[in-house]
Amino acid sequence: MAGTLRNKILIIEDDPGICTFLKTTLTASGYDPLTASDGKSALQIISSHCPDCILLDLGLPDMDGRSIIQSVRSWTQTPIIVISARSHERDKAEALDEGADDYITKPFGTVELLARIRAALRHTCTTAEKDEIGLNGVYRVGGLEIDYRKHRVIVSGNDVHLTPTEFRIVSLLGKHAGRVLTYKAILQELWGPAASMDNKILRVYMAGIRRKIESDPNEPKYIFTEVGVGYRMAENDEDA
Ligand code: CA
Repeated sequence: MAGTLRNKILIIEDDPGICTFLKTTLTASGYDPLTASDGKSALQIISSHCPDCILLDLGLPDMDGRSIIQSVRSWTQTPIIVISARSHERDKAEALDEGADDYITKPFGTVELLARIRAALRHTCTTAEKDEIGLNGVYRVGGLEIDYRKHRVIVSGNDVHLTPTEFRIVSLLGKHAGRVLTYKAILQELWGPAASMDNKILRVYMAGIRRKIESDPNEPKYIFTEVGVGYRMAENDEDA
């Protein structure tokens, strides 16, 4: 239970209403919230208090949220969850490509917020998590199994025949389960920095993957579309 951890969460948000809501929610959930209403004080708090996780509103009075991400990433891997308005998909994708770990869209619910924070905090202990996949070489969520050693994907006990590229996409998302991967990040991982930034090809692959692994490709259970941003593999949440 998160309540015993007292992780420090820094809220960087200039809207006092949202800031108070976040602070109350986090305190009630057993976290230790810190707040900053502009970029300059945020950077000071990050260096002096070393928060365990950062919630970052991209629209701040004195600084672009993305320059905060760049600045933070130059010295720490503290997870950053971007809080963004609904209509700004490009901003979200850019923030993720700058090094943010996840994003949440306003207006958001408490359950979703807390789930994202738990996932971000879990990913800080990435060594434990990687070992978990590394030791038995298998990622499992629901009826889906990705066997990294045997290069197999199994759904409800049945072998799924993926093409090599489809397997690379599924295994990449599985390694980062619970986190959104941007189109750009996936394309570059598959085809290197010179990859075409055409998302259409990914959509074609994803349609093929979903036909093979989802019982209803229109209502995916394993790989979710983050509209205008990328894809997210369902996370095995049983230890949350
Ligand atoms: Ca704002």
